[in-house]
Amino acid sequence: MARAKLLTYPRYMSDRHPSSGPLVEGPHDPEHDPTASYALDRGYVRDLTERLVATSGRTVEVRSPIGDQPLAHIPQSSETDVEEGFRRARRAQESWARSPIDVRAAALLRLHDLVLDRQSEILDLICLESGKARKHAFDEPMHIALTARYYGRTAHEHLDSRRVRGVFPLLTRVDVHRLPKGVVGVISPWNYPFTMALCDGLPALLAGNAVVAKPDAQTMLSALLAARLLDEAGFPPDLWQVVAGPGAEIGPALVQRADYICFTGSTATGRSVATGCAERLIGCSLELGGKNPILVLRDADIEKAAEGAVRAAFSNAGQLCVSMERMFVADQVYDRFMGRFVARTQAMTLGTTIDWGNDMGSLTSARQLETVIAHVDDAVAKGARVLTGGRPRPDLGPFFYEPTILEGVTPEMTCFGHETFGPVVAAYRFHDESEAVARANDGEYGLNGSIYSQDGPRARALARRIRCGTVNVNEGFAASFGSVEAPMGGMRSSGLGRRQGAEGVLRFTETQSVATQRVTRIAPSFGLSDERFGTVMTASLRVLKKLGRA
Ligand code: NAD
Repeated sequence: MARAKLLTYPRYMSDRHPSSGPLVEGPHDPEHDPTASYALDRGYVRDLTERLVATSGRTVEVRSPIGDQPLAHIPQSSETDVEEGFRRARRAQESWARSPIDVRAAALLRLHDLVLDRQSEILDLICLESGKARKHAFDEPMHIALTARYYGRTAHEHLDSRRVRGVFPLLTRVDVHRLPKGVVGVISPWNYPFTMALCDGLPALLAGNAVVAKPDAQTMLSALLAARLLDEAGFPPDLWQVVAGPGAEIGPALVQRADYICFTGSTATGRSVATGCAERLIGCSLELGGKNPILVLRDADIEKAAEGAVRAAFSNAGQLCVSMERMFVADQVYDRFMGRFVARTQAMTLGTTIDWGNDMGSLTSARQLETVIAHVDDAVAKGARVLTGGRPRPDLGPFFYEPTILEGVTPEMTCFGHETFGPVVAAYRFHDESEAVARANDGEYGLNGSIYSQDGPRARALARRIRCGTVNVNEGFAASFGSVEAPMGGMRSSGLGRRQGAEGVLRFTETQSVATQRVTRIAPSFGLSDERFGTVMTASLRVLKKLGRA
């Protein structure tokens, strides 16, 4: 496949507002004007979109948040196309499931290398489609490489058949097999469009499944590049089908046909997906929203905590399920910490460009910008104080919003308990740690938590009291997110099931136990009456327990 030809041209020159706020734009270089818009080579786009099953004749325009410029027209799938995608996937899955585990693992390891080799093309496309800063896009191929290597190297550990003890020692042999579910439907969001399109599907493929993927309409190209890379890594092409269309239409069409659904998105949509799965009695894993707490304890290293808090709250402009929107800071260090946190936030460089150099990029859509404005305006109208930020920045890009720190947020404000999914964090003082834990556990979500402290054992003990699927000590989210051997997911309304680790692959399998009875049957033999057989069995059970048998 041809490498991306990104044609860049300046859209308008620097008639931006003077830098009236504390924030500055990304490094200005006339060759790389941060307000430039970008156009994709048509042949490149065609090569990607040909990977879709989409014959409806309808297309939808995808626009880049950088300058709100048209990027591509994406052919749309009808329900018939979804049906066709499943038909192809099912056929491909049958032979894939029979292929040796080593063959499947080797394809994952080839994908690892490809993703690293093609990193700059992947980053360009992610930045163009999502508007995020390149350093935040960088997390995506890294996460996929880590995931591919981990599952490629541990395939046998998770998927090999194993012998377990039978009811009669020596006489009953039991083999437990891991069979693939069949065809897995993967429904993914726009915020991490490359990694979210792939990271769950990789263990599904490893386990012998096929995938029908429905990425978010805003970021189809990144997801299609992911599919192309799978082809190049040597996965059978029909094994990974991609369909495009409105979530409310095409999403349920997947739920109606899949053998398992892996959904990442909002809690509201997750609930409706779970209802559809329940009606069909198929399993699902749901990676949903969060309102994640960060605790800065009195013994935290203030400089490290302030640096970490900036990344925890503003990575990908806060459009990250595991980013921090609630910050609880010990009274003793509140003023010192907040001073450093505000200063570091004000020093961030903002800009819309696909090059390295910006600390934060754009929000991905007008809808996200509207939500952020609504949450901040509502909080301010009800008495919250803005310590920094609090404004959209149309001078930098149409969907830009400043990284924002609020104080004095109260329960009647929308952003107190509702996920903003933007660069907005509310800071609160706490007096004792039990109170901080109780406030961190308040609300319906339980996705990710963070604790800053110089006392590791104390922080880890506190972490166990936080009702979140992951808790990071002296990091915001990257330590758990990058540690792909560790399961990751949400408690309470933040989800069901886990991605990553053993659970991340076993969810895509059915266990099958094959029990073989030898020599004697499990019924009275050797002339024993039923009663005598019962007595012998009862005595045997007592003996086996005495022998320490499980
Ligand atoms: P969303 O729920 O609106 O959309 C997510 C996906 O679901 C999209 O592909 C969409 O087209 C599809 N969809 C929409 N309606 C559907 C329906 N009725 N049936 C089936 N599919 C449907 O979510 P969003 O607002 O685009 O994404 C942001 C949300 O995702 C945030 O709440 C964020 O916290 C969450 N998220 C969670 C994780 C995680 O791992 N926990 C990761 C990324 C994002």
